[in-house]
Amino acid sequence: MQSSSAYGGEVFDMAFRQFEAVANHLDIPTDERQRIFLPKRAVVVSCPIHRDDGSTAVFQGYRVQHHLTLGPTKGGTRFAANVDVGEVAALAVWMSWKCALAGLPYGGAKGGVTVDPHTLSPREMEALSRRYMQEMIPFVGPHIDVMAPDMGTNEQVMAWFMDTYSMYQGKTVSEIVTGKPVETGGTLGRREATGRGVAYLVGQAMKKINLSHSGATAIIQGYGNVGSIAALTLASQGVRIIGVSDHTAAFYDPKGLDVGALERHVRERRVLRGFSNEMTIDPADLLLQKCDVLVPAATERVIGSENVSKLQCRILAEGANGPTTPEADEILDQRRDEIFVIPDILCNAGGVIVSYFEWVQGLQQFFWSEREVMDRLYQALQRSYDQVLGRAKRDNISHRNAALAIGVETVMRAKATRGLFP
Ligand code: GLU
Repeated sequence: MQSSSAYGGEVFDMAFRQFEAVANHLDIPTDERQRIFLPKRAVVVSCPIHRDDGSTAVFQGYRVQHHLTLGPTKGGTRFAANVDVGEVAALAVWMSWKCALAGLPYGGAKGGVTVDPHTLSPREMEALSRRYMQEMIPFVGPHIDVMAPDMGTNEQVMAWFMDTYSMYQGKTVSEIVTGKPVETGGTLGRREATGRGVAYLVGQAMKKINLSHSGATAIIQGYGNVGSIAALTLASQGVRIIGVSDHTAAFYDPKGLDVGALERHVRERRVLRGFSNEMTIDPADLLLQKCDVLVPAATERVIGSENVSKLQCRILAEGANGPTTPEADEILDQRRDEIFVIPDILCNAGGVIVSYFEWVQGLQQFFWSEREVMDRLYQALQRSYDQVLGRAKRDNISHRNAALAIGVETVMRAKATRGLFP
């Protein structure tokens, strides 16, 4: 099967190759593959805003909705300089397998705006967020497509999305986005959900390979919402965080970094740069340092054929979406006994699972305690984790292929049962 002509680029190609491998494993007939893999629709919009200097600037925005078979589509919106429709489509496809693996009643979606958010003032950020949502109004809805944060966006952006949508509806529609601040209808625990979920699954993997938290070491790449919370949670459980990085700096200290100080620094400065003059390391080298747990929590394709053989971790916990290329996966597969992989669609699913809880609470206007949210989150992750490990063992396949197989199979079965209309 051809990947598609509408979407291109390395990231989409990667999603396609992963799907083909799993489709071969599942023996999906060739003529049924496109129906499962190709995104249902893609919306491309131009978002004009006034810059602070009075000039007008136009930013390109995207939303790709992968499939509508199980309910509304669901997924984050990223603001990043290199976003294009192929990347957004790949991320939407991955959201589908992620939601299906977690048993959520959603298809995958993803959105993006091609902009480096660090170049926008707070007022420009608000203008762009509002304009993007406004352009998307005909294509989204609480039962059509529900947005959430992703790289470069946050709770505040979700509040602006919700407010913009609501103002056009003439009433508050909090269920239009998840990942909102708690005071505007968000749920307790959503901000921490992805990072805590990563730490929870790392804990399960440690049990499996007989590692204890105390004395274990971790390196975290990416210090945004996912990486920082994963670091704090692991540190609170006794794990020594020996390396961290973001797009501005990388620090390494085998004796362990002070995560409390890191937290305060990032809260003030928003980035890691300037944290220390002494513990700096080349960001690419950081990934190759010996550690028990390596958490890539930044962006796609950071583990490839050039560095995968040099990884010295025992557990690879993929907090980011798509951090490992298919070429690297082949090598990881040969190193299965050395490196325990927690694949992205399992590892970072805590975010969308709690987004689902937020959506349900919003629809019912009935809110849960943080304890209830976290208990249900860990139950859901445990269920998925057990399924993935069980499937990997049964079929003698990698954890990634097992996770993808469960996700793809769930979508395939739903499509087969619903049939083809008309
Ligand atoms: N952007 C997150 C992800 O990639 C969360 C999506 C959501 O909560 O809908 O999983």
